Amino acid sequence: MTKRLYYTDSHLTAFEARVVESGVLDSRPFVTLDQSAFYPTTGGQPHDTGTLGGRSVVDVIDREADGAALHVLDAALDVGAQVSGIVDWPRRLDHMQQHTGQHVLSAAFVRLFAMPTVSFHLGTELSTIDLTGTPGPDAIARAEEQANRVVWENRPVSIRFVSADEASRLPLRKEPVRGGTLRLVEVEDFDLSACGGTHVTRTGTIGVIAVQAWERYKGGTRISFVCGGRVLAHFRAYRDVVASAVRQLSIQPAELPDAVVRLQGDARELRLQARALTEQLAVYEADRLAGDAEDVGGNRVVCRVVDGRDAAGLKALSQAIVARPGHVVALVSGSRPAVVVVARSADATTDAAQVVKTLIGRFGGKGGGRPEGAQGGGFDAEPETLRVAAYELLSAGGPPPSSSSASR
Ligand SMILES: [Zn+2]
Repeated sequence: MTKRLYYTDSHLTAFEARVVESGVLDSRPFVTLDQSAFYPTTGGQPHDTGTLGGRSVVDVIDREADGAALHVLDAALDVGAQVSGIVDWPRRLDHMQQHTGQHVLSAAFVRLFAMPTVSFHLGTELSTIDLTGTPGPDAIARAEEQANRVVWENRPVSIRFVSADEASRLPLRKEPVRGGTLRLVEVEDFDLSACGGTHVTRTGTIGVIAVQAWERYKGGTRISFVCGGRVLAHFRAYRDVVASAVRQLSIQPAELPDAVVRLQGDARELRLQARALTEQLAVYEADRLAGDAEDVGGNRVVCRVVDGRDAAGLKALSQAIVARPGHVVALVSGSRPAVVVVARSADATTDAAQVVKTLIGRFGGKGGGRPEGAQGGGFDAEPETLRVAAYELLSAGGPPPSSSSASR
């Protein structure tokens, strides 16, 4: 069992120890020590990093079987060696801020709304707590405010060890999951929990607790939050995003939501105008294509690769052509994966849906439609190959026409 120095001193970053075991785990060397200030990944909190005997500590794993902490290193150390350990302090402080902040925030939800925390995760960007209840935005804001009040009152955070029997008589926020001697963490007059993690010694060091988002999760609520230095990092990121957006739009930050709504409206208007103009243009292009149609099997057949139009544009063009009597049309987009639109005049008998279905069977893709008009997309074939195949289907085996494109 490794003596955990961080249990009694979370600010200890330099220590001496003796290597008691060395081995290899997943092809990486590891050692265990007689004592260590390195925190192993456990209880929702990630491990510390740093150096040990000049080697980099890349992972620290809690071996539950014997209570040893496995220090995974970038190079091996010998059993019996006396080594100096140095814990990376910025990472440790960040974890202490997030973890102690979690205690305070979880306690606020219990004290205000009797909503216990069932799960905690300290992530690289955000931390989360999962609550059993479903607080609304106002309730979340109240808990956030109470938690920050406790932070700014700079209350002491103390550690003590008690037996399970003693613990059973204490008002712990959460039922302890293990027996034996328990390590209690107390935020003065606010929270008492059994916990093995690293914590700040006064709440002021948490800095600030900010809820970033919340969502319904497994019948309860998942709250994402940041504390301390991460709040400053988030503030800077938001500031830069907002500054960039308001500079582009020449507006004040408070005007952003309205500006986005206005831009969306403008874009919708322009899309409608573009569609109307495309349909008007289709009438003229349809005239030209219909003029070049071939007489095959009693139909006027138009079968072309058309550049510069999407599926909606091809559909508008094909509809403009089949407004004439006796026409069958297949238009293929000029880019891959290709789109094919097939249509017929009301008095023609070709089954457009069947043509598309046959093309899908041959070239993949998906689509469908009705006998008068159908379309398919995602064809993994050269547009010209598709055009030739479509022509053969439209003309029931006739020769393909010239492959001149109707591109603009
Ligand atoms: Zn804790």
